[in-house]
Order: sequence, then structure tokens, then C-alpha cells
Amino acid sequence: MSSNTKYIFVTGGVTSSLGKGIIAASLAKLLQARGYTVTIQKLDPYINIDPGTLNPYEHGECYVTDDGAETDLDLGHYERFLNVATSQANNVTTGRIYQAVIDKERKGEFLGKTVQVIPHITDEIKNRIKILGQTGQYQFVITEIGGTVGDIESLPYIETVRQLKWELGDDCTVIHLTLLPYLATSGELKTKPTQHSVKMLLEYGVQPDILVCRSEHPIGADIKRKIALFCNVSQDAVIEALDAPTIYEVPLLMEAEKLDEIALKKLHISQPSPVKLDKWKTFLEKFHHPKHQVTIGLVGKYVELKDSYKSIAEAFIHAGAVNDCKVNLKWIHSESLSEQNIKETLKDLKGILVAPGFGNRGIEGKIAAIKYARENNIPFFGICLGMQCAVIEFARHVLNLKDAHSREMNPQTTHPVIDLLEEQKNISHMGGTMRLGAYPCKITEGTLAYKIYGQTNIQERHRHRYEFNNHYMPAYKEAGMVLSGLNPNANLVEIVEIPTHPFFVGVQFHPEYKSTVENPHPLFVHFVKASMK
Ligand code: GLN
Repeated sequence: MSSNTKYIFVTGGVTSSLGKGIIAASLAKLLQARGYTVTIQKLDPYINIDPGTLNPYEHGECYVTDDGAETDLDLGHYERFLNVATSQANNVTTGRIYQAVIDKERKGEFLGKTVQVIPHITDEIKNRIKILGQTGQYQFVITEIGGTVGDIESLPYIETVRQLKWELGDDCTVIHLTLLPYLATSGELKTKPTQHSVKMLLEYGVQPDILVCRSEHPIGADIKRKIALFCNVSQDAVIEALDAPTIYEVPLLMEAEKLDEIALKKLHISQPSPVKLDKWKTFLEKFHHPKHQVTIGLVGKYVELKDSYKSIAEAFIHAGAVNDCKVNLKWIHSESLSEQNIKETLKDLKGILVAPGFGNRGIEGKIAAIKYARENNIPFFGICLGMQCAVIEFARHVLNLKDAHSREMNPQTTHPVIDLLEEQKNISHMGGTMRLGAYPCKITEGTLAYKIYGQTNIQERHRHRYEFNNHYMPAYKEAGMVLSGLNPNANLVEIVEIPTHPFFVGVQFHPEYKSTVENPHPLFVHFVKASMK
């Protein structure tokens, strides 16, 4: 293979939510399984600088990278598939592009020229794409263009693809993902929407090389031939993408359809090494044939939209598989929980997870769920706000500090057991100002956390403003809550546990971001194990 980085673009047509991220991640997985180095990038056409300020109802979970970038949840899929960390460079939004160009304009870097979408915005987009190739770390950069072809906001991105296709020649290929709707009355798959969306791409000057067609039914050679004919692609470049029982099956479906082979052919790479997916297949084998089942409650306030807790749900799939166990997640709205209905709602659960979150809504329901788990010896796992709620619950019911709270929910509380750090107090800007990204944590030997991690020095990702208030440290220790993980530099509490309970762990960080198919997170693995007992 030539030393040039190869660029693969994934665009989408017909409708949104066809799963471009999963197709991009599956192709990347197959290339990785052939021994290549690959990274995936997402370009998002909205004006927000990043999804950090977006309500989860808008755009699902905000995923956080090691370097502290607040990113699109597709980056979570990329990491879970590839088992390789992403960074700020892997997610770019229109807001970030414009901000960079406007900053340059204010500094006078355009030397008096009129600043325009073409070339200035498209050049900036191009730089953001090529920067990953220029690191020298990757043989392939797969770039997913958010949105649907034809959207006004994604136009500059499509124009950039056109320019790069011309510039890069053999080092670039374009995959277009479309939908073949099935008309039940006539029993037919329809190709017209695909033809139209390819026509739309052609109007912008981009000829896709490969078409991946989502479909509920097998496509068959005739339809492939028809699509190939109308869309100027070779017939072997029309790939069928049937609905899969799990996203983790998609790499195998794409391998069977030879998506990776055709992509390599389009990029003029001959004789690649064979695909090796042993670990992946072992995972799928276990996933499809669980020997046990367990029901775990996920208590949160965005449960109507499951994408809000994407990484947590996926981490349970990884952790379930290694335990030969199917984890049935019961989604529980924290606002609907009260002292009156708590027993009835939670009684069948073998484990309770209290989710991350912001703001006061549903907070008392979370605290009630934790009290129930603590008093009834039900395995409990609290993440970020979930850990903070565990600290509040313990203060109120064990330390007898009746109005204990987080200052986020009650600024007037006499016992702010969760409080703002000094350096956070004067912050007025909301974007990117939390404690974000990977920080070290030192675990005390002999604790449950130590048993779980099997080491003292770990790194986990953060996304929060508030912290355990160390003023109360002695009281907690005396009453039997162990502060088993601390940040070695700032002494911030990262892990709390109750050793007299079968499994009661709260973590200030987000372990779910680091769980992958090939590397399930030990906290989830042990929580599932404890729930199975
Ligand atoms: N709202 C809390 C804080 O900012 C917890 C954040 C979270 O759960 N991600 O500290």
C-alpha cells in the first residue's frame, strides 16, 4: 500500500437515522481486522460549537473523549468498535469551523480578502479532515458527514468532499448510504428514493463510488443491477445492509457483502491481508447465547430517549456478554419515584444504577432509589450525579444531616456535601468549562474498587462541575463510607463505597465512555456479576 493516507467519506441520503455511524464503524472495524490503522471522524452540520450545551433530548448522549472534548455520540460507537481512543479532532461542527474562520478574520489573516464559504469555510473543513491523516498515525481516515444530502446546512461539507475527491484522486472514495423502502401492498422494494438522492449528490458534483442500501428485505441481483445502472456505480458496489439484531452484527454483514473489499478496490489497494475478527466473534457468540439473565434498573430523568444513556446501555451489553448473561435494563423515570411507590417499582430489580445528569428535576426519586438499594442490600452503582446522590442520601439518613444536598440543587443548604470547587465559582460561560476528560485516580488497596480494577493507578473520564465536599470527609469515614479513589493531585473524591453492603459503588467519573466490545469496563463487569448473585 502506498504511504498516502486514504480518505473514505460516508454520506447519507433519503432520510436521517439510517446508521451512517454504524456503517462507518463497521467498515473501520473490517479494515482494522485486516491489519490497517484506521480512525473515524464525524462532521456535524449544526452551529453549536459542540454538543456539550445540548439537552440530551435534542441529540442524545454527549460523549467525552480522553482529551476532554464533548462530542457526538457516534464517537462512542467508533471507540466501542475499534477499541482505540478518539479526540477533539474526531468531531467537528459547523460552529467550530465558523468560529475558527472568524477568529482568523479578526486577526487579519485573510489580508483584506472577502471571506466566503468557498474557499475559506471549505478550506477550514478540508484542514480538519486532513489533520488526522497528517498525524501519520492512520492509513485510513473515514469521515462521516452528518445530516442528509440536500440539507442546506450540510452543503459546504458536500462541496468539500467534491474538492477533495478531485484533489486526492485514487486516495479517496465516497460511500453513500440510502434506504430502499418496502411497499407491503405490492411486496416490492423501491429504488426511486435512492436514485433521487444520488442525483442530488451528482448535482453537487459528487459521484458516489459505493452505495450501501438499508433494507428490511434482501435486495437481490435484479435490484442491485437496476441501482447500479441508474446511479453509475458498478454492481458489486451496491451493498445490501439488512436490519441487524444488534449493531455489533453489522461488521459481519458488511464483510459478507464485501464492503471492505470493494472500498479497498476503489482505493487501488490490492492483496490485503485476510480479516481476523476472532475476539469480536467470541463476543457475539456469548451475546447470542447467554446462560443467565438479570434485570437491572436504570434510574434517570431522560429515560424516554434511550440515546441519552447510550454508552451505559452499551457497557451493559459488553459486561453482560463476558458474564454469559443477558442484562435486561428496566428504564425508570426518577420523577415517577416516591417513598410510596418505591418498593413496588424496584422490588424485582437485581441491581440499581443511578445515572448521570444535571439539575433538580427527579433528584428526590434518585435519592429514594439509593436509600432503597442501600437498606435492602441490592447492588448499587452510581455514576457522576448518581454518585453525588449516594453521598447526599448517606448524609441525610446515616449522618443525620437532614437538609444535606448538592449546592447545584439547593444553593441555600446548610450541609453542601456536594459543592463547587473554588475555581468553578466565577465561571459564567457554559460551554467546555466543566471538569472534562481523563484525570488520574489513585485507588486504596484492599477496597472493592481495588479488587475490581486490580491496580492502584487508573485514568477515567469526567464531565461535571460539582465535587464531594472534603470538609465532610471525616464524618463519612467514621460512619462507614469508604472513599476508595482520590485524585492524587487535588485530593478530590472519585470513588465511594460501603464495604458492609454486597456492592455499593459510586464514581464521580464516567466509566461507560471507556467500555468497548473487546475491553468491557471492569466496574460494569463486576456490577453485573454482583447483580447475578
Ligand atoms: N450535575 C453534576 C455536576 O455537574 C453531575 C454531572 C454528571 O452527572 N455528568 O457535577
